[in-house]
Amino acid sequence: MSSNLRVFLLALALRLFLALPAEGQDQPVPGFPQIPIDATEEQVRQAVALVRAGQKLTPKAWPNGARVAVCLSFDVDNELLARRAPLPVPLSQGEYGATTGLPRVLDLLDRQSIPASFYIPAMSAALHPQMIQDILQRKRHEIGIHGWMHENLPMVGDAAKEEQLLTQSIEYLTKAMGKRPVGFRAPSWAFSQSTLDQIRKAGFLYDSSFMAMDEPYELLANGQKTGMIELPINWIADDYPYYEPQAAGSLPDPQLVFEVYKGEFDVAYQEHTLFILTMHPHITGHRSRIAGLEKLVTYMKSKPGVWFATLEQVASYVKTQEKEAKR
Ligand SMILES: [Zn+2]
Repeated sequence: MSSNLRVFLLALALRLFLALPAEGQDQPVPGFPQIPIDATEEQVRQAVALVRAGQKLTPKAWPNGARVAVCLSFDVDNELLARRAPLPVPLSQGEYGATTGLPRVLDLLDRQSIPASFYIPAMSAALHPQMIQDILQRKRHEIGIHGWMHENLPMVGDAAKEEQLLTQSIEYLTKAMGKRPVGFRAPSWAFSQSTLDQIRKAGFLYDSSFMAMDEPYELLANGQKTGMIELPINWIADDYPYYEPQAAGSLPDPQLVFEVYKGEFDVAYQEHTLFILTMHPHITGHRSRIAGLEKLVTYMKSKPGVWFATLEQVASYVKTQEKEAKR
């Protein structure tokens, strides 16, 4: 093969690689027709109305006069991210989350005496039942819902089936934890037409899947208040785009990732709002990355007035402050 051809093929492979959409994004999804270019303003409004940002819910002050609330959250997806192509080696990459990543994360949280929230798909927990026990044993962390099989909810394409999976997931975790979970994070942060209705009906205290603000807010459903507290996430404060080998924009140096997270935290601190980091034990649980995370925790702890909390604690606090304000 000529060296020119080799360079061309390499460039082509790179282009295809970079063109890969992130988990489930930008593909036609059942129940969500495109917004045509000649849609009327009213049609555009309707097309975006399903779930929107309502009022901001950041309280006047955080507990004990803290300047910012910080939540470390971990989506314990492990093997289930390889569910669509369950080959032995990608599965082992997920298995690492249970054998090594999660224990390392829990050790870090012990050393630093801080809480965290864990979102675990039921079948991920079933493969390694010890994970829930190890988390609960610390008596400081929260476990929330993250699907049954890490199903992409809009791709389920059937409201009854989706509700059945949600019910099963709640039952599974309730039994495993001895307590009903109060937090919901959609697998791959994907909502269907029915998800918001279903989690309201199931009585969740909060959701953590949306990105319309950097601070707590209320979700609106077709323009109506829902009372559902949103604790928003975003791709910038997530380990997946930086470390996942198939992700475009890969930035594998933990020092650079530390700088990005630190920059996000610093502004949250100035704005007196909320900093939520989303990670995965099988991704961040690697040696150099845990060291990077610990450096970040140490940095945040060096600032006065940082409240490390679970999302459940933040949502409960926001809710009580909201009630006080209404009196
Ligand atoms: Zn996930």
